[in-house]
Amino acid sequence: MDTSPVTEVPAEELRPALELYLDLHTHPELSGHEARTADRFAAWLELHGCTVTRGVGRGHGVVGVLRNGPGPTVMLRAELDALPVTERTGLRYASTVPGVMHACGHDLHLAAAAGALARLARSRSAWRGTVLVVGQPAEETLQGARAMVADGLYERFGTPELVLAQHAAPLPAGTVAHADGPGPLMPASTALEVVVHGRGGHGGAPHLSVDPVLAAAATVVRLQSVVARETAPAEPVVLTVGSLRAGDRANVIPDRAELAISTRAFRAETLDRVDAAVERIVRAECAASGCPSEPEFTVTARSPVLVPDATATVALRRVHEAALGARRVTRTPPLTATEDYAAFGTDGVPLAYWLLGTVGAGLWRRARESGEPVPPNHAPEFAPDVRTALPTGITALTAAALHVLTAGEET
Ligand code: ZN
Ligand code: ZN
Repeated sequence: MDTSPVTEVPAEELRPALELYLDLHTHPELSGHEARTADRFAAWLELHGCTVTRGVGRGHGVVGVLRNGPGPTVMLRAELDALPVTERTGLRYASTVPGVMHACGHDLHLAAAAGALARLARSRSAWRGTVLVVGQPAEETLQGARAMVADGLYERFGTPELVLAQHAAPLPAGTVAHADGPGPLMPASTALEVVVHGRGGHGGAPHLSVDPVLAAAATVVRLQSVVARETAPAEPVVLTVGSLRAGDRANVIPDRAELAISTRAFRAETLDRVDAAVERIVRAECAASGCPSEPEFTVTARSPVLVPDATATVALRRVHEAALGARRVTRTPPLTATEDYAAFGTDGVPLAYWLLGTVGAGLWRRARESGEPVPPNHAPEFAPDVRTALPTGITALTAAALHVLTAGEET
């Protein structure tokens, strides 16, 4: 059956989920500070019959449990946090919080999970078992998922047969995309902060100081050789220096420079090799500059490789083709974005993951004609076509959950 995106979720069901989305989008909160968002999400889950526990993990983690007799357990996961980005969409429901924006679509994930839970609560005669709904904090800092698992998520609320998550992506709104084949879909990553120590002084007398700006600049350039010269051309590795800070004035040589570095690779051994090479190059550039003390290294986050369960990928692709129509279900090659979702796969708990298209038809057409890329996740202009993407996300999540909750009933 091929239904149009707006009719697959009845308007009276879509409206409250859409209102939740608009409210969350207008009031974004940074990683670790998601108190209001967690409250709104928890209230929705309670309203629809869940038993809700708050504060799971070290922050604002929310777990809703909807029991419906003995049977399988399925978990729906959505993230609570927004990003330190200043919104420039011009939307009437744009962020009202200066410098903070839902630029990764986590508000869309929350509204879709909320809508799916409401649908499951309304259709209890069609399934048996338990639905866990997780509102995960601190995804953008790659810390929340691990903290929730470490706080006994599965021991306290049950181990799911399958965990489900979807992520907003620059694909046509109304579509979903599953992994093209078995194996890793997202890389492992390390986030690293480095401090380079120089000796401060007068901008007019550089020979009396050790300039950490020059040492840091040389380091940034040289680091790209880890990808270009130390990694096999066929092996995907990403190394990004996302932040470089040093000094305040043109005529003052500062005494330190700070770099924030992100590395990504699809194998843990490769990531270890890349991270070791980063440290070697930073130390060598500091030595080359004659820095008065060794550089400092702090790993601020790590995330494991995301490998979706191959059997679930094949099964859910079919489920989504039946629910959305085959032409709205596409395939994606591995991505180089990272997620801490893989941390929910602890002890072999199988994970399912798919991408949820967000780009409206008009913008997609213009982008194809002009060759200009659409504003991606994390961009200040990121603006999902929520009226199409949200019902698609609700339908995709509901259908996938029902696939687990009705397993064994089909003949
Ligand atoms: Zn993000
Ligand atoms: Zn995200």
